[in-house]
Amino acid sequence: MKSYTFSFQILIFSLIIISCKKEMQLKSEFSKIKESIALHPKENYYDSTQSYNKIYKKNVSMQTRGIKEIHPIKTDSGKYHIFFTLDDGPQLPGTQICKNILRKNKVKATFFMVGTHVYGKERQNLIDSIQADSLFIIGNHSDTHAFRNKFKNFYQSPNVSVTDFITAENKLCIKNKIARLPGRNTWAINKKVKGESSAYTVAKKLDSIGYSVFGWDVEWRFKNGNIPIETTNEMIKKIQTQLKNNKTNMPGNIVILVHDRMFSKPQYTDSLKKFITILKENNQYTFETIDKYPLYTFQEKIN
Ligand SMILES: [Zn+2]
Repeated sequence: MKSYTFSFQILIFSLIIISCKKEMQLKSEFSKIKESIALHPKENYYDSTQSYNKIYKKNVSMQTRGIKEIHPIKTDSGKYHIFFTLDDGPQLPGTQICKNILRKNKVKATFFMVGTHVYGKERQNLIDSIQADSLFIIGNHSDTHAFRNKFKNFYQSPNVSVTDFITAENKLCIKNKIARLPGRNTWAINKKVKGESSAYTVAKKLDSIGYSVFGWDVEWRFKNGNIPIETTNEMIKKIQTQLKNNKTNMPGNIVILVHDRMFSKPQYTDSLKKFITILKENNQYTFETIDKYPLYTFQEKIN
């Protein structure tokens, strides 16, 4: 009898702990939503009691923020379009090194940045210089990088996740509503989604507030945090093969993912320089920023 009473006490105790935890989670969700509303005093993105889409005033928001129109390139230009994208910046010295190489070679690129990585004067100055450079655009890669890589929790809490992106939008002064999801190769453009389905809800919500969400066609992978796995020649070969065999999301266009911290060490800085030079010297290829991706064709393609 005593052991039954004891088990019952343990059960009650566990239930109390679970409910306290849940409440703490809700409180944190609420504080983030409040923070977001405080940052957007003139815009009512959402409140927690109503559905996200009903309250969000997309058109008003697009006007008040001065968001740039997206002007996709024509796919019949006779060239392969390379969308070179660098994730997780600003990270030092990686982002600075990559920016310098790209600038020197006049290569257009897209930096998908993380809000919490912006701290201190040096990183802020770096962000400002990238924003001011016509070769580059900055895309939204969330504020906390999916609660510091807790991907499962992040994609199971869509409202909190979208708030995380809005926080980053403000910190990074995002001018183009372009996002990449942390840890998920998921695409969402004009109400169409594709890629890894665990992130569909978050991707659709971002799409509903005017974002285009871009995954990637090919990744220059890394190990031990920042060591490139493929050699420059292996990467070039991958790109050529995928384009030749129409194995990209959009034929004639390829989105390349790298992480700028991979190129911090001198030998890997050289790998990036070589990579850029080989592609740049081949007149089959032209580099573009991701705001020029052929969105409308993409929409038809994934129907
Ligand atoms: Zn990332």
